[in-house]
Amino acid sequence: MPTLFERIINGEIPADLIYEDEVCVAFRDIAPQAPTHVLVVPRRPVQALDDDLDAALAGHLLMVANKIAVQEGLTGGYRVVINCGPDGGQSVDHLHVHVLGGRSLAWPPG
Ligand code: AMP
Repeated sequence: MPTLFERIINGEIPADLIYEDEVCVAFRDIAPQAPTHVLVVPRRPVQALDDDLDAALAGHLLMVANKIAVQEGLTGGYRVVINCGPDGGQSVDHLHVHVLGGRSLAWPPG
């Protein structure tokens, strides 16, 4: 079964796509937790951060996360989050990087 995010990447499910390249896509989260809340998702269906992840892909996703922050004008700073597994709060089994910004974010998270 393709994951929800594979179906978005394939165009089966609509999403507000704001960036794409040969490795990943980025679209706005459907339930934003901040004025800017974007998900950076690899085209390859890696399940989670603890799955078969190579350094090149990990680095690329982080570089794109920063590119999104610049594109979104998050000059005051931003947060990058990767939830991993049930205890990490991961709800979609397709690796994704949250980029959150546009307001002051509290720490620690819940
Ligand atoms: P996580 O809980 O880290 O697995 O994050 C999954 C994220 O996917 C959540 O923030 C959801 O709001 C988001 N999400 C779920 N369905 C969609 C969708 N159809 N389009 C965009 N974002 C979605």
